[in-house]
Amino acid sequence: MSTARNDKTLLFLEDDRDLQALVCTFLRDRGYQVTPARTAAEAREVLQSKPVDAAIVDGLLPGMTGADFIRELRKTKPDLPVLFASAFWKDLKSHELLTRQLGVARVVHKPYRPEELAVWLEQLFAVAPPPPPPQESQDEEDAEPVDDFAASLALLSADYGAKLPERLATLQALLGKGRHGDAAAMEEAYSVVHKLHGTAGSYGFRDVSITAGALEDVLRPVKTGGTLDWARVDAGFRALEDRVSLPVLAPEPEQAVVAAMGTLLVVDEDAAVLADARRMGEREGVRVVTASTPQEACAAVEKQWVDGALLHMGGAGLATASALRAMEGHQSLPLAFSSTSGGLQERVNAAHAGASLFLPRPFTQQDFATAAERLVATRRLERAKVMVVDDDPEAVRALSQALVSDAVEVVGLENAYGLLDALAQHRPDLLLLDVQMPGPSGFDLCRILRLTPEWQELPILLITAQVGLEFRLAAFQAGADDYLAKPVLKEELRARVHARLERARLSRERTERDALTGLMLRRPFVEAVATRLSEARRSEKPLALCFLDVDHFKKVNDQHGHLAGDRVLMRLGRLLGARFRREDLRARWGGEEFVVALLGETPESAKEILSRTAEELSAMTFEGDTGDTFHVTFSAGLAVAPGDGTTLDELLRVADARLYRAKENGRNRIETE
Ligand code: GH3
Ligand code: MG
Ligand code: MG
Repeated sequence: MSTARNDKTLLFLEDDRDLQALVCTFLRDRGYQVTPARTAAEAREVLQSKPVDAAIVDGLLPGMTGADFIRELRKTKPDLPVLFASAFWKDLKSHELLTRQLGVARVVHKPYRPEELAVWLEQLFAVAPPPPPPQESQDEEDAEPVDDFAASLALLSADYGAKLPERLATLQALLGKGRHGDAAAMEEAYSVVHKLHGTAGSYGFRDVSITAGALEDVLRPVKTGGTLDWARVDAGFRALEDRVSLPVLAPEPEQAVVAAMGTLLVVDEDAAVLADARRMGEREGVRVVTASTPQEACAAVEKQWVDGALLHMGGAGLATASALRAMEGHQSLPLAFSSTSGGLQERVNAAHAGASLFLPRPFTQQDFATAAERLVATRRLERAKVMVVDDDPEAVRALSQALVSDAVEVVGLENAYGLLDALAQHRPDLLLLDVQMPGPSGFDLCRILRLTPEWQELPILLITAQVGLEFRLAAFQAGADDYLAKPVLKEELRARVHARLERARLSRERTERDALTGLMLRRPFVEAVATRLSEARRSEKPLALCFLDVDHFKKVNDQHGHLAGDRVLMRLGRLLGARFRREDLRARWGGEEFVVALLGETPESAKEILSRTAEELSAMTFEGDTGDTFHVTFSAGLAVAPGDGTTLDELLRVADARLYRAKENGRNRIETE
């Protein structure tokens, strides 16, 4: 890195000669006048003999602590900027003592890199914060600093929207030339579409962006050298034109607003019911998406996040339920059914299909409100939580606004000293830390968290105006997972945060879920069921616990191959995962044994529900490793609290004994006594 000369004079108080030599060389190379001192006495002499602009003080000096030295120093030089280098303090309390009471400008942790010291010195002597580097942008719409707040963003969006028809006209002209063999025009057309795809969404024109993305795919041969399908190009262009020429070209509502209320999918073949639901949704502040067939329902869920679905029991409700839950990522979509009868059979069907709620039909505004609240609340627990720490409330706001979405919730924190409490309270999945803050820096906080067992794994992203190599090295050394440069670009921020969240989620899944079946492992199941059991006791509801064991599974392996055996376990696991309500628990207990806990079910209803699963399994056809086909069944033992016991141990013991009995009594059966 180039070294701007500077005329700053430093006192460097450090008793370790090697470190002193290294740092002195480094800082002198940076243009600083460095006077070393190895003891407090030497340092006093230096301070008396010449003026210094700042002091770097080691935490432990021969015969006295660095803190005592600074306390003494403050009597004569109350304002001298001091950097404190420490290998010892590890907590925010001592940090507060140093910075607030002793006026330390920055605490640097040992071992530190000289580069890091340089970063802090530069910051110390910067008269004003350096202006953000000018944005490198090919096109005005590519730049979108996050520090543009709602108002200016709205203006920019409106402006962008107003220019869209013009851009489309240009695109049309380019495509026209391209059709007649003008390769350069096609290149340009591709670039226009590519930019629309990448940028329109940032301005809130999500549909335009998506449609442009589809057209970009069609135009890809322009880049790869294949032949263009002009019919598809034209169709794609018309679709884009449709999007842009919508009567009111306003950006779609901010996702944050939608997220605050929740989105409910209502599926019904009766258009009047759908219209009612939309009206009720408006009154409750819930966004209602409607569909009239299972296919439409799946298409809707593919296009947008929904918090839950309300289905019609009498219609294609059951088919819709299993279609929705067969979709990637929606295995446990919260469901509710409406039904005119509501008899035991229907209730059992609904519970088996995964309904957490059963509504009368027609449902009233009140029914709808209850259902919406319950469904939305369950899914919300699944949202990832990001904590943003920045001393600047505007920055907290801007970052939150950029990140908040249907799948991400954001908590802001301005006072870094409160970090540990805030973490304990909110338990975020990811932490976004500003580096330059008046109290502890992002580096400090990062180090502290990495020393705290509970937060060692928490993904941490640092945000800073510094982007030099030394900063990046210091960031990783402090234990950060990634860093972002200011001004933060919204799309980049989102991309990085989402990538980290996804990684964290996968690693959590790995430790809590069985890889073959996707179900919970035994230990998390036991923990979760203990909570359910005390809930059941409090609300005086029954809780059913059921052991399932595949019949003659050893034979399956022997006759059809081990891989075929694995496929059986995988499909049974998926079946159990997709059936039942979200609040019900299912786990792979081990080998070919599974366990299910159903809350609020009596022995009779629980047995009915599990019989459905048994029927579904026996109806599946499996293929052996040599192409042969076969079927399997399971046996089950059911125990229900409080009748069969009130502790988990008792229930497990009783259920296991009944499973054994089911095997003795001929298999493919469920024993309840
Ligand atoms: P029963 O009807 O009495 O339950 O007979 P069974 O053969 O199912 O019971 P047993 O407990 O004797 O055998 C279970 C077999 O399951 C033995 C074991 O090799 C096999 N197994 C356990 N885990 C797995 C697995 O992950 N994959 C496969 N393919 N087989 C497994
Ligand atoms: Mg078995
Ligand atoms: Mg077994």
